[in-house]
Amino acid sequence: MSEITREQVMAALSHVQEPDLNNDLVSLNMIKDVAIQGNKVSFSVILTTPACPLKDLIHNACVNAIQHFISKDAEVTVNMTSNVNTQREGASVLPQVKNIIAVASGKGGVGKSTVAANLALSLAAQGAKVGLLDADIYGPSIPTLFGCQNQVPDSKEVDGKNIMVPIEKYGIKLLSIGFMVKPNQAVVWRGPMISSAMRQFVNDVEWGELDYLVIDLPPGTGDIHLTMAQIVPVTGVVMVTTPQEVALADARKAISMFSIQGITLPVLGVVENMAYFVPPDDESKKYYIFGQDGGKKLAQQNNVAFLGEIPIVQTIREAGDEGIPLKQKDAPTAQAFTSFAELTAQQIAIANNNSKLNSAAGV
Ligand code: ADP
Repeated sequence: MSEITREQVMAALSHVQEPDLNNDLVSLNMIKDVAIQGNKVSFSVILTTPACPLKDLIHNACVNAIQHFISKDAEVTVNMTSNVNTQREGASVLPQVKNIIAVASGKGGVGKSTVAANLALSLAAQGAKVGLLDADIYGPSIPTLFGCQNQVPDSKEVDGKNIMVPIEKYGIKLLSIGFMVKPNQAVVWRGPMISSAMRQFVNDVEWGELDYLVIDLPPGTGDIHLTMAQIVPVTGVVMVTTPQEVALADARKAISMFSIQGITLPVLGVVENMAYFVPPDDESKKYYIFGQDGGKKLAQQNNVAFLGEIPIVQTIREAGDEGIPLKQKDAPTAQAFTSFAELTAQQIAIANNNSKLNSAAGV
């Protein structure tokens, strides 16, 4: 067999498609560090997110392409790595944050904060740099979910300005409006106060470099959403709903509000929480106690992605109460959150790629 060349490797890999980005890996500049020694071929594939749900599929397609187009005896090592993509290059607000994901819901109590916390944890578990901002002024629950209710973020002076330093827990940078008020203290937030608190959270915090900043919004649609739309360039909104009609109706209203001109927040998709109950004594059973497929239909009607179903499980509630988010307990249901986080990261990567293509085409 003649020596394998770099050109052959690149030619073979140009047959491998990135299904979400509708182009091949070589054209997308995703192949790096090609090394060849005899029949051993190795290279890196730079994905647009470490939480890519197509990771295994792309890996296998690369191995097959080398063996099919060059030699079936080639020993192929593919190093799957990532450089999270963004549409925020040169942004004036939060310039070091590649993507901002807002988690919203039409009504309270549907598990929005639980979903936001586990989204952040799942993305971090896959190797992304993640921050979580709890902007739910009506019921900030991130401090409880992460078991750090009594902590106060440090502050320091940078260039004569007071900067807050987020608390770090489970590998995530956390900041919550709940750290600013005593537990059980009721706070009435008026429009200008909300605006100024949000501006501070965005501009006067040492977030550092992040792949994803997850923002837990208050439920419904109100002042804070208007403020957010004005000051935080959100990459996309994840809408959380339960399958009941009351929750779906409010989620529908919230989605339509997010598309009003001037306060547009792009909705990435819908996730259905408390979708079904799995009895602990028989995990093969699923009971759709609140109805079935409501979230999926809501996504279809609004032409956005359906990001998955999270079951209603006692361990999710217990984990939240104990301040050990589910992901950390590694329970089997954590798989539902992992898959949801992967689908969310996938939608973000697609949106970023589309935005690049549109700006290249002058749209
Ligand atoms: P929201 O932010 O929408 O008000 P939370 O995330 O605070 O809702 O959740 C409300 C309550 O429901 C919490 O006690 C939480 O632990 C529980 N919960 C949320 N999602 C689930 C689930 N999938 N299974 C079991 N309990 C859940």
